[in-house]
Amino acid sequence: MKIIQNYDLTRLNTFGVPATAKFFVEIENELEIKELFTDDVFKNNQKLFLGGGSNILFTQDFDGLVVLNKLKGIGILEEDKESVLVRAMSGEEWHDIVLFAVKNNYWGIENLSLIPGTVGAAPMQNIGAYGAELKNTLVSVEGYDIESGEKKVFTKEECELGYRDSVFKNRLQGKYFIVGVTLKLSKVFNPNTSYKILKDHLVENKIEVKNSKDICDAVCAIRRSKLPDPAVIGNAGSFFKNVFLEKTKDKEKIDKLFLEYPEMPSFEEGDFIKIPSAWLIEQCGPANGASWKGKRIGNVGVHERQALVLVNHGGGTGLEIKNLSEQITDSVFQKFGLKISPEVNLI
Ligand SMILES: Cc1cc2nc3c(=O)[nH]c(=O)nc-3n(C[C@H](O)[C@H](O)[C@H](O)COP(=O)(O)OP(=O)(O)OC[C@H]3O[C@@H](n4cnc5c(N)ncnc54)[C@H](O)[C@@H]3O)c2cc1C
Repeated sequence: MKIIQNYDLTRLNTFGVPATAKFFVEIENELEIKELFTDDVFKNNQKLFLGGGSNILFTQDFDGLVVLNKLKGIGILEEDKESVLVRAMSGEEWHDIVLFAVKNNYWGIENLSLIPGTVGAAPMQNIGAYGAELKNTLVSVEGYDIESGEKKVFTKEECELGYRDSVFKNRLQGKYFIVGVTLKLSKVFNPNTSYKILKDHLVENKIEVKNSKDICDAVCAIRRSKLPDPAVIGNAGSFFKNVFLEKTKDKEKIDKLFLEYPEMPSFEEGDFIKIPSAWLIEQCGPANGASWKGKRIGNVGVHERQALVLVNHGGGTGLEIKNLSEQITDSVFQKFGLKISPEVNLI
């Protein structure tokens, strides 16, 4: 374990924006965690745990210690005829645990294929895509309390998972270093093809799903065709969360919106109506009726095909991206009276 000073984080965030950490360390095993927790630099500075940097925006240098998570290992804890408990260390790439699952034809996380980043960050925002969420398979999360150094195992309920949300983004933000995640996967044929884009892709390409790899391959193909690759253009996937309105509490607002914008897409989800923020953003713009979609301001902008995705065209800063996100948020609020909020963690 070696603590380095003034470390450049540009290549460690998928926006590719420049930022420096006052102190920086890479952690490869649990022994190093124990060593780290007794170090004065750790004790006396604010800390930031970093995985793949694919859901973070550095708007300034980090005046503290950045801990880069390199804890590796995937193993089976127990299994029976129908299911298997898989534990992964938090520094594993999320997609690698998906590949481990589909190689063994385990079901449950194949719809979450190709989501960038680490296993440890997955519970942070209860990653979700193509009709599935981490919470469908999560059993527990292990984390070290940064104050006491004690290890705690959080049950799924204790993680308080919600839409792109968890206890680790709220009450316990920055308080635990997540080191391991345990998932319960099914051995029984169990495809989830409820999500329209996925269902259409399978039909159009005449794919008969026989194993979980078929879904994984389909999701990878869709994602590669739709989402910008951070290796080509800096981004962190969806910058904003979708809007959820409560059917009863927000009834007046919902009725008014549908009267004014009958073409507004919406999806019923339990007691809520989900309104896609991408659509709201597409309807708004900086001025003169132009849409935000595809708009470039200096070196940053909104992706030309995905209005939810903010991009760094090269040479952009985190502050520029933050300013753009605030302009978009304001214009959506002015037009629709709806507040869109960031999914990305701003530092
Ligand atoms: C092209 C693209 C597509 C994406 N698509 C999706 C998608 O479909 N669905 C989805 O949900 N997300 C998506 N994302 C967002 C992102 O991939 C996920 O949020 C992912 O889980 C972030 O992992 P990470 O390791 O990169 O986290 P980081 O960006 O490194 O960290 C994110 C947050 O988690 C904290 N954190 C990270 N590791 C730990 C740890 N071990 N202990 C404590 N705190 C920690 C960090 O401090 C930070 O606050 C996408 C991103 C990109 C770039």
